[in-house]
Amino acid sequence: MLGLPRTRDEGRTPPVEGRPADSRLIDTYGRVATDLRVSLTDRCSLRCGYCMPPEGLDWLPQEQVLSDDELIRLITLAVNELGVEEVRFTGGEPLLRKGLERIIGATTALRTHRGQAPVTALTTNGVGLDKRARGLAAAGLARINVSLDTLDPERFLRITRRDRHRDVLAGLAAAAAAGMGPIKVNAVLLPGTNEDEAVPLVRWALTEGYQLRFIEQMPLDAQGAWERGAMVTADEIQRALAQEFELVPTDPLARGASPAQTWTARGDGLEGTVGIIASVTRPFCGDCDRTRLTADGQIRNCLFARDETDLRAPLRAGADDAELARIWRAAMWGKAAGHGINDTSFIQPDRPMSAIGG
Ligand code: SAM
Ligand code: SF4
Repeated sequence: MLGLPRTRDEGRTPPVEGRPADSRLIDTYGRVATDLRVSLTDRCSLRCGYCMPPEGLDWLPQEQVLSDDELIRLITLAVNELGVEEVRFTGGEPLLRKGLERIIGATTALRTHRGQAPVTALTTNGVGLDKRARGLAAAGLARINVSLDTLDPERFLRITRRDRHRDVLAGLAAAAAAGMGPIKVNAVLLPGTNEDEAVPLVRWALTEGYQLRFIEQMPLDAQGAWERGAMVTADEIQRALAQEFELVPTDPLARGASPAQTWTARGDGLEGTVGIIASVTRPFCGDCDRTRLTADGQIRNCLFARDETDLRAPLRAGADDAELARIWRAAMWGKAAGHGINDTSFIQPDRPMSAIGG
């Protein structure tokens, strides 16, 4: 099946107590998780219709959310003991977390097993970024993705139910002024709302020096309203772009485990990189290198996993690093071959993307 790991090594030794054969986060298919996604909060300043309902959600009680120090302890463990090399902060909206700069600073002070600082990245809706960009850059933030689905403020209001289009543009400008780069812009196209914006968004991004990444809409909304027949597919986006731009695939080896298929787009005297993350129609589970930590301290081995592993309880009960590492490794070991969105038996996870961390 497309995008699945080819072999399952049933004979591999599971990383359980004792002396694990490999201290990294490996699974039965031989994939190694080196990219940690940390959700800093399930709350958000916007209400994108494909993500959450207008009234928001039942937010996690504050006492269940990991403190900054608890988060830093687990990130340190992941880098020092488990082979994590990249840490992406997301949510909900990570800019709602006051301690974000301190958490990023503590992360960049770590050293991976290669002796380098882990690569830090942030996925944000950009609201409030104008005031934080310099501090984030000073803390060592290496990469940033800002989500923006439309160039039209009225459409933005319709999609996000908040009148903050101007704030997002100001945030992007501030990130550029703070020297962050490359700045990536995430866009979800929705039928009947902004599906006609593939070309205008790319033209704008190339002009501004941003890299556009289209994300196929996934069944991860809180309302469970996703419909396969009502999503804009990677094929449709690629066809629309090809009518306006020459698209030359970038080196797939340079892409590594990145989920985006990328092209150099040329046209209208402009040139730059554009990508499509086609999780639904072109799954890339076979190359997945991710492990996820939710704001309430649960490990998820996949965005679409039906279960989670609790790290918060043992952490708060005084478990040492060796025990926490053992639990984390065991949680990753059982990672499924693929997300199964295209199987008839697919069941959407109980938690929406905003609570898992996108
Ligand atoms: N609030 C931040 C933001 O919007 O960038 C970070 C969290 S958000 C869940 C991360 C990314 O997931 C955003 O780019 C958003 O557009 C995308 N996203 C949210 N719900 C989605 C869905 N159902 N399908 C595909 N992408 C989705
Ligand atoms: Fe908030 Fe991001 Fe979800 Fe939009 S996609 S509601 S900005 S978490």
